[in-house]
Amino acid sequence: MLKTLYLLQANVIRIKRKSLTCAAMLSISSTVFLTGCATGQHDRIDDPVHVSVGQNEFSGEIVNEVYSTTDLHDAVVQANSLDAQTTLVVFDIDDTLLTATEFFGSDKWYDWQRGRALNESGVVIPTRETEKVNCLFDTLGMVFEIATNKPTQPDMANLVHSVSNDVVILTARSGAYRAGTMRELARNDLDFTDKSLTSPDVGLHYDYTLDGRTARVSYVDGVFMVQGMNKGVMLLDLLERTGHEYSSVVFVDDKQHNIDNMGDALKSAGINFYGYHYTRISKAVTPEEVVQANASRAALGELLNTHFEDRAEHINHRQCDY
Ligand SMILES: [Mg+2]
Repeated sequence: MLKTLYLLQANVIRIKRKSLTCAAMLSISSTVFLTGCATGQHDRIDDPVHVSVGQNEFSGEIVNEVYSTTDLHDAVVQANSLDAQTTLVVFDIDDTLLTATEFFGSDKWYDWQRGRALNESGVVIPTRETEKVNCLFDTLGMVFEIATNKPTQPDMANLVHSVSNDVVILTARSGAYRAGTMRELARNDLDFTDKSLTSPDVGLHYDYTLDGRTARVSYVDGVFMVQGMNKGVMLLDLLERTGHEYSSVVFVDDKQHNIDNMGDALKSAGINFYGYHYTRISKAVTPEEVVQANASRAALGELLNTHFEDRAEHINHRQCDY
């Protein structure tokens, strides 16, 4: 049974550059220190947002550290500092390795369509019903086929290539978008075929039910597509199915809830967790982008209505295929 103790001694080196105020608090109470100093700026690898060291009756200390960073290099350095044989590195795709070149169809466009995008002041932007596409996932699939992605930072591919550990690419995208996803990974010099946890000619496609929702997930050529399922739960499931065990996982993702889910799952499994919340790509949606998105939606609708009447009819009647 995992028993989190919130001990600090193993992390003193990492936190030693925090403010004097925080240092003073450390001498008073380690728990207070963690809570009170977890909300400041955290852009350096030696400056974790959250730290806890739990204990597992089987393997002793369990590390659970989360950092906020704008540079993939930080996570790669961490991975290279750990044992390569027993440490798995997990990267998200959207807004972590790759990012959209256009707003329409981008990760933040998706959030905007769902009514949870933020403007440049951090305020939620209400999305009008008339601004929403009829079949969100059908539209997303079309855009993934049309659009290109670019690296989130210039040295992205070189950094990923410098990882000598086993690597899993873990994306919330649906397997229905695999062709476009693999094409854009390849275009950006990313190929994880030789990193696959299965034999090169073996892929996994299966249904997984969690909290009443069933998703069709797939793991092929090192890329695990989990259709919005809990990434932590899905990673543990993949490791079990492929017969792999690791003592540590380094995970990089732009979404806080994915970091949280992964941390929780790994803690329950007694696996050390080094989470990197990657914040380089801005999530702010501008008024210009909203105008652009509305124009793109109208143009795509016009294309479908004019030249692909049957599909247009399906979508206009919300008979969604994805
Ligand atoms: Mg992402």
